[in-house]
Amino acid sequence: MMDAGARRFLYQQILWLGIYFAISIVVTIFIDFPYSLMVLLPIIFGMAYYRRYRFMKQIGQQGSLFGNPFGEKEGSINYYCINCGAKHNKISCPKCGSKMKKAGF
Ligand SMILES: [Zn+2]
Repeated sequence: MMDAGARRFLYQQILWLGIYFAISIVVTIFIDFPYSLMVLLPIIFGMAYYRRYRFMKQIGQQGSLFGNPFGEKEGSINYYCINCGAKHNKISCPKCGSKMKKAGF
């Protein structure tokens, strides 16, 4: 049993697949290979990027679905050296050279 959201998602997937398919057919008809590929790839990547952008906007503040949980709030987290407490964002501490650090706000 699928809920309405899942069914809508599946419907959108199929719809987008159809759009991709239609575009690739049209481009292949009018443009010869390999030039068709050079036209097709930016279109497909552009649309994939647009879809991701729209999806991200729908999710809004959660935004952690794509791996980087701090992606949107980057800059608000500081790292402090565990050894001497210096605030830095380098791999190793500029003061004492320790590579151990902790995150803080
Ligand atoms: Zn240090």
